Amino acid sequence: MSVEEFAQATVELPPLQLHLQGKSPYGAPQIDVPIRLNTNESPFQLSPELVDDIARTVATSARDANRYPDRDAVELRHELARYLSDTTGHTVGTDQVWAANGSNEVLQQLLMAFAGPGRTVLGFEPSYSMHPTLATATGATYTSVPRTEDFGIDLDEALSAIGRLQPSVIFLCTPNNPTGGSLDPEMVVAIHDASDALIVLDEAYVEFSHSASLLPLTDGRPRLVVSRTMSKAFGLAGARLGYLAADTRVIDAMQLTRLPYHLSSITQAVALAALRHRNSLLAGVEAVKEQRDIIVDTLRNKGVKVADSDSNFVLFRAPDGDSTALWKRILDAGVLIRDVGLDGYLRVTAGTPSETQRFLDVLEETA
Ligand SMILES: *Cc1c(COP(=O)(O)O)cnc(C)c1O
Repeated sequence: MSVEEFAQATVELPPLQLHLQGKSPYGAPQIDVPIRLNTNESPFQLSPELVDDIARTVATSARDANRYPDRDAVELRHELARYLSDTTGHTVGTDQVWAANGSNEVLQQLLMAFAGPGRTVLGFEPSYSMHPTLATATGATYTSVPRTEDFGIDLDEALSAIGRLQPSVIFLCTPNNPTGGSLDPEMVVAIHDASDALIVLDEAYVEFSHSASLLPLTDGRPRLVVSRTMSKAFGLAGARLGYLAADTRVIDAMQLTRLPYHLSSITQAVALAALRHRNSLLAGVEAVKEQRDIIVDTLRNKGVKVADSDSNFVLFRAPDGDSTALWKRILDAGVLIRDVGLDGYLRVTAGTPSETQRFLDVLEETA
């Protein structure tokens, strides 16, 4: 045995933190198949005009890459504030907007500030699997209240859990992933008023919704914050840009948990270019909504049980209830959809017209 091998054989890792032991990482399969409808990305590639603009702005910022980026990403936050104000009719200032590497990082920074050991984070499941993962990673206790049969929230159950658990943070995902539906503003206000928690409205899919953003509810409610992303409606999952609209004191707290210079100058430049092209990018949203509605209508006409969707995806029940076998048969036909671990159900992302049609054909042939 060489000295190196001896050292390797005898060196043991220190134990993982207790709350990480036995956990598995987030792992939506990345399988190379012709049609990928499994992670709610936009099916549309960026336009040549936007690609050129990104290339130009990245080249400009590359010249200055010997310097750290603007630590506070002021220009980007200003443009994100403008986008939110223009699209919701609710004015937010630059100092009420925060940006990070995907809304996952935004959520992580929020939880590092407001969750942590000895505190409870509450969710309503099924919902986005990263909410518990990020919460427990801070050392907080995550607890969830089950949703009703039609995937809504039972207000009485919610209020009783809030009274019992006194959570520090409550996740309300609206539209909800993986079920697709939205929450009424009255429900959000009732949950807010019954708690002392930071209420995180995860609006990753709101641009696809039949109903409006709940951002205006943040007025006079500093504990209510809205997280957004450019990964879905903007079709920019690869750029990693998420953002938050919140009271300035919440934004100040983000400054304590972020890493210095967390948002690279390249990322800032790409996001700014995308915002300049927002009209053409968001044009894809209408096309995706159309495909979403086609999936819902087609499956319902066949008698398949389908959840209402305000998102760019559809949750449906396998006709024979065996979602695992159906997922595999659809994959074997070259279409990757998502087994979200919800017994009997599968989730499919709306694609281009031809991708959506292919999925519907495959389902027809295999279900
Ligand atoms: C996809 C998704 C996000 C976005 O994550 P990013 O880190 O911004 O890519 C956030 N919340 C939910 C519920 C999602 O489904």
